[in-house]
Amino acid sequence: MTDAMARVESKRRVLLKLSGEAFGDEEFKGHGLHIPTLAAVAAEIAEAVKLHKVQVAIVCGGGNQFRGADLAKKGMNRQRADYMGMLGTVINAVALQDFLDNAGVETRVQSAIAMGQVAEPYVPRRAIRHLEKGRVVIFAAGLGAPFFSTDTTCVQRALEIDAIEVLVAKNGVDGVYSDDPRTNPEAKLFVDLSTSDAIAMQLGVMDSTAFTLACDNDMPLTIFDMSKRGNITAALVDSSVGTHVAKNLESNFGS
Ligand code: UDP
Repeated sequence: MTDAMARVESKRRVLLKLSGEAFGDEEFKGHGLHIPTLAAVAAEIAEAVKLHKVQVAIVCGGGNQFRGADLAKKGMNRQRADYMGMLGTVINAVALQDFLDNAGVETRVQSAIAMGQVAEPYVPRRAIRHLEKGRVVIFAAGLGAPFFSTDTTCVQRALEIDAIEVLVAKNGVDGVYSDDPRTNPEAKLFVDLSTSDAIAMQLGVMDSTAFTLACDNDMPLTIFDMSKRGNITAALVDSSVGTHVAKNLESNFGS
């Protein structure tokens, strides 16, 4: 076994999905960037990387900037609008990089759309080397292709860098419920959920392309609430929060 292989085996490598909404500023109707949130998220990631030696890759969403589908409904060309959405994810990625740097974590942004001054190009093997050296890698610009989402991106990137799990951070939602908990007080929180049930239930928590990619390739997901302090670190360290979604799990609500 080479040194590099030994290093990989001794570390937990995960992919964290942060939606753009989480970064948005309520004062500006969820647009722009909420600086205290960025600082808090960076501090939790730094704890997992520095104290627990977790290898952390991140996919940033861009919903606080632009969503292609929304702009298309208002009359824009869908493809062009999606590229705007992808550029929005780069803004979030660069902002998060700044706060991670401040928290003492070396960070690289890799973009699926070439922009040499602000980000490295997306090179999976180079990303893996960064992770092995304890650097956080932020994947920006989604898959670099319109008609996809950053949900699908996070599963694809996790597969390509050999992450053991995708951790999907939601804002104010504990995990996956049997129904919308805001409108149905009887809705129950799943502790475990099979990916096929997640697809059949047409859950809005992630898009169906992402669930299907995860199911077809056996990539487990944990969906958790990032607004509770400490949850991001807990998810990164041992996935001990939220709902676990995997191909071979039996769906249950826990005790
Ligand atoms: N997007 C895209 N291709 C991708 C990823 C993202 O076209 O591979 C565009 C799409 O318009 C999307 C926007 O970027 O609406 C922002 O991403 P997303 O909606 O996934 O962000 P989130 O909801 O996670 O904040």
